[in-house]
Amino acid sequence: MNPVAERFIRYARVSTASDPDSSKTPSSSRQFDLLRILETELIDLGLTDVFLSETGVLYAKVPGGITGDVIGLIAHVDTSPDSPGEGVTPQLHRNWDGLPILLREDVVIDPAECSDMIRYKGGTIITSDGSTLLGADDKAGVAIIIETCKWLMENSDILRPEVVIAFTPDEEVGRGVENFDVDRFGADFAYTVDGSEVVEVSSETFNAWSANWKITGREVHPGSAAGSMINAVRVAGELIALMRSEEMPENSSGRDGFDYPLFVKGTAGFAEVKVILRDFTTEGMVKRRRRMEAIRDCLTALFPGSKIELAMKEQYSNPGEILMKDRRLVDYALEGMKRCGVAVHEGSIRGGTDGSRLSFMGVPTANLPTGGELFHSRREWVAEQGLSIALEGLKNTLIIWGEKH
Ligand SMILES: [Zn+2]
Repeated sequence: MNPVAERFIRYARVSTASDPDSSKTPSSSRQFDLLRILETELIDLGLTDVFLSETGVLYAKVPGGITGDVIGLIAHVDTSPDSPGEGVTPQLHRNWDGLPILLREDVVIDPAECSDMIRYKGGTIITSDGSTLLGADDKAGVAIIIETCKWLMENSDILRPEVVIAFTPDEEVGRGVENFDVDRFGADFAYTVDGSEVVEVSSETFNAWSANWKITGREVHPGSAAGSMINAVRVAGELIALMRSEEMPENSSGRDGFDYPLFVKGTAGFAEVKVILRDFTTEGMVKRRRRMEAIRDCLTALFPGSKIELAMKEQYSNPGEILMKDRRLVDYALEGMKRCGVAVHEGSIRGGTDGSRLSFMGVPTANLPTGGELFHSRREWVAEQGLSIALEGLKNTLIIWGEKH
């Protein structure tokens, strides 16, 4: 195993799932298990200003570098609560033959479903045992950043910018930079190492809103309901039927946005529906929000006597425009990946990262790849070679910042 893969596997074994239902910070105390390990390792490597906040953000500085723009590197320590994350047991598939990998009867990794897996034919694929996710999202990023720090510490003659790092908790529950101290971090520009295929550097994310519905009906004994019952379950069904199927996630890709009903719960008396709206453009998002309002008005007219409440809230915004103001951040990363011999392109993340918020907090942040795919599932995988390409790409990017200084 190469050192970055070994390091990744060690971190993957530490359970760090975040908890969407918790109001604590971090949302699960198990995230501190990994943060404390990392804190010790950073001190041992010789990084300075190592500080673990009580809200679970770990900051550090790599001593040295040219005075000028300070570059920050960020990864998140938590794993997605969407898939089991307790007791991860990484498995190695050496000399992978390019065929589907069967982890369990119902857990099969099909290369046809992955955009960049076949690149690793003949190499080593790392997966879970099929009972949990793997946690390459984003312990691969954590491992890549620490290996980069180690390389910087061992090669003090490299012409490179000042580098600071941070590891955040709770990215997967949308609270990654809630308690992030931009001043303590001290970066002018940053990269999250939280991407997927090595062929993509991402310079934009979705605009994201939530639309939460509360439907109050009128509960009556069904035997005597004629003319008086208003069934909130039916209203909820009608609400979803009124949403356009061509706008649903299963029918959208590339730069399309979507409207995604992801939660329904209810009785005749009361029902709740949660929807999330995603769009790369501001105008597109305005349309999606208007559509929700139009559905509310339509339902109110269709079910007189019901009470239909719609609460929409912004979750994060596309930082694309901010990143376009100074192209160096994205261009140097693209060049860095190209120097690894990868046909890299600039992409759009069909989701959000800590960088979406950080860019609006004054630190323009783009996203670099990790070499894994099928995140948030038991089929998640990362390639040993993918990790090393992503690591080399990051090192090259820092070298380019130094060259261009
Ligand atoms: Zn992630």
